[in-house]
Amino acid sequence: ESKSTGKSRVSLFKPEMAASFRRRTELEREMREGLAAEQFELHYQPIVEIASGRIVSAEALLRWNHPVKGRISPAEFIPIAERSDLISDLGEWVLRRAAGDLVRLPADVSMSVNVSPMQFRQPRRLVSAIRQILEEENAPAERLELELTESVLVDDPEQTLETMRELRSLGLRFSLDDFGTGYASIGYLATYSFDKVKIDRSFASVVGENEASRSVVELVQHLADRIGFTVVAEGLEDEAQVAAIAATGIPLAQGYFFGWPEPIDKLEARFADLAECHSA
Ligand code: C2E
Ligand code: MG
Ligand code: MG
Ligand code: MG
Repeated sequence: ESKSTGKSRVSLFKPEMAASFRRRTELEREMREGLAAEQFELHYQPIVEIASGRIVSAEALLRWNHPVKGRISPAEFIPIAERSDLISDLGEWVLRRAAGDLVRLPADVSMSVNVSPMQFRQPRRLVSAIRQILEEENAPAERLELELTESVLVDDPEQTLETMRELRSLGLRFSLDDFGTGYASIGYLATYSFDKVKIDRSFASVVGENEASRSVVELVQHLADRIGFTVVAEGLEDEAQVAAIAATGIPLAQGYFFGWPEPIDKLEARFADLAECHSA
């Protein structure tokens, strides 16, 4: 087989490609139906203050329970939704559900919602949807945090700044998600005022073993001290990883070690147990 010799490019079409195209087309149609049929749900993963173990916020993560294909990962269906006009409907469903669930959490806990760059490309629609959702769900804007990825900053920096400013004036906060995996430069940390920066799992989880990654992470924490944002380490799975992150001075973390994404009832029950144990 001739892989990367330019000449044979035309012969690279394979039956698997047709199959994967078919699956994408199918999923796009089924997503639309699934949204109406309530096949989607949100799971919430705690974000924890390492020193105290206190849950400071919860990240809403979208789940699709497909009636035939079973559970499909957002890593597969979000990109498909982004290539159609479905992402805005899906994204607004997420915002509404998360805002509704937010009011069930203690007053010192906030909620993080992932927002697609495609939603940011329709700023008028996004801002008015958020306004309406906050009002209808009676949710405090100050406890709602939007997670953006670096690509939204690269796409259209001017418009993104303007949209962020407008949403911030409503009270919302912002996290920069998956930091270190995209194309944004460190300068973006100064230009955009993020409340939190989330260090991607690929860096955060190897800080104990990889000196170069540790240097990067320490630099981000140093910038955080100077510029005034808060750093979150993503994807910590064991105690050694947590200890290595704690040693860098990063205050917040998220990962299976602290808790899996789970339905709102489970998260609510955690707080109820905590309250009981404090009053006992
Ligand atoms: P993300 O926003 O970076 O979310 C973190 C992902 O890491 C989640 O995957 C979470 O389940 C996973 N994770 C958390 N702790 C650990 C850990 O200790 N180890 C490992 N290996 N993984 C961990 P998930 O739920 O599959 O979501 C994948 C991505 O899909 C998200 O990455 C986000 O980019 C996107 N996504 C999820 N929900 C939404 C949504 O409502 N809207 C949009 N636009 N994107 C979403
Ligand atoms: Mg996220
Ligand atoms: Mg992330
Ligand atoms: Mg990620």
